[in-house]
Amino acid sequence: MFIDTHCHLQFSDFDEDRAMVIGNAKKVGVKKIICPGTNLLSSKKAIALAQQHPGIIYASIGFHPYEAQKNPDVSALSSQLSALSSIVAIGECGLDYHQYGSEKAEGKKSLQKRLLSDQLELALKYNLPTIMHCRGAYEDFFDVLDSLPSMPQGVIHCFSGGLADLRMAQIRKLFIGIDGNVTYSKHIQTIVPSIPLSILLLETDAPYLTPVPHRGERNEPKYIPLIAKEIEKLQGVPVKKVEESTTTNAKTLFTL
Ligand SMILES: [Zn+2]
Ligand SMILES: [Zn+2]
Repeated sequence: MFIDTHCHLQFSDFDEDRAMVIGNAKKVGVKKIICPGTNLLSSKKAIALAQQHPGIIYASIGFHPYEAQKNPDVSALSSQLSALSSIVAIGECGLDYHQYGSEKAEGKKSLQKRLLSDQLELALKYNLPTIMHCRGAYEDFFDVLDSLPSMPQGVIHCFSGGLADLRMAQIRKLFIGIDGNVTYSKHIQTIVPSIPLSILLLETDAPYLTPVPHRGERNEPKYIPLIAKEIEKLQGVPVKKVEESTTTNAKTLFTL
């Protein structure tokens, strides 16, 4: 059995055929799906979905770094935590400086850092793991983690860093999420052989990051096995082993 540890199944992209998408995932062995929120509304939708599909869909609640300038209220997340039985993590939260290009954007970056650390503190308070997003911001990202009273558990989802960033993640005992872009990104393909299976998680980030040969279409959790097969190729381990390890890792981190 596979677990898709990051799929935005609550997004409107799936409003027409959500039940079929879940059914098709099940047919190829993807039996559990974690649904991360990106703001308060999508977090609430993730919780509702998890409540409709207990044991199959699990919610994670959080604010994506793109929300930072809207000054979101992190305490509004705490009030959702009364639905704790269907919530397995805080996130996705993180830093994304990609959009700023060469612009310094110090003020905007500070807002992102603040939003991230507030959510990580919430995760520590409720003893929940975190789903973290980091793009073009690894140095600041590890600084924020290191400034907390203790290191949160979690995954750097859709890992895009280099070998030094991977090392920093390993020292902090974080998991690494790999997505469909492993089927076409030369950079990810050079990093994956160095990621121990013991810290690897599979995720689609659907509806985004559709793997080869379906690029250009909407992504779905049913494509998780394509990611596992690419890892088999890059690491030279049987796909069955990739399946077993990543499922064990997901169950351990998110207590599924
Ligand atoms: Zn993300
Ligand atoms: Zn995402």
